[in-house]
Amino acid sequence: MQRLLIVEDEPALRRALTINLKARHYEVEAVATGSAALKAAAGVTPDLAIIDLGLPDMDGVEVIAGLRGWSSVPIIVLSARDSQSQKVRALDAGADDYVTKPFGMDELVARVRAALRRADTHELPGEPVVTTSAFTLDLAAKRARRGDLEVRLTPTEWHLVEALLRRPGTLVSGAQLLAEVWGPGYEKEINYLRVYFAQLRRKLEDEPSHPRHFITEPGIGYRFEP
Ligand code: CA
Repeated sequence: MQRLLIVEDEPALRRALTINLKARHYEVEAVATGSAALKAAAGVTPDLAIIDLGLPDMDGVEVIAGLRGWSSVPIIVLSARDSQSQKVRALDAGADDYVTKPFGMDELVARVRAALRRADTHELPGEPVVTTSAFTLDLAAKRARRGDLEVRLTPTEWHLVEALLRRPGTLVSGAQLLAEVWGPGYEKEINYLRVYFAQLRRKLEDEPSHPRHFITEPGIGYRFEP
């Protein structure tokens, strides 16, 4: 299920968005302030954020800038009809699309779908074959080699590898990896990651006890170094 973060301070609209998007099988987290939105996004990264530009505690543009500091999550802004300059600032700050209030739910849902579809095409690394000093992974053919040896990875190991390879060099939180690979509700199962990364390193790293490619940042997350 794709996860949407909604930031809207008007209670009636927040409720209507939540009900309508849940009815379309999205997982929804709805908050009323910019600071709550930034906090929520740092916990489990959403697949898309819907951000009202007029918020009580900060400008919606600041929320976008805050998210864009570390995330490429698609962002749709909700803006008042008379605020053209605000829309431009929002797009400059990194928003992907905007919807002008008042809007129909069908229009918003169509925008959400389109933004998610665009984001999806960027999900895989540009090159389907990733080669490091230790191993080669062919993501399209699902083949792994270490030197001359063919290595077998399980479907879960492939998911985990792909989740990291999509963002080379980037630190990905443990909660985010768990939610992406195992699904929502698994964010606290940090032990799964220990077990699976130990396995991956045994299979792929030259020196599993001194990994050079699948790096743990203790207490924070994991990073793939090409
Ligand atoms: Ca507002």
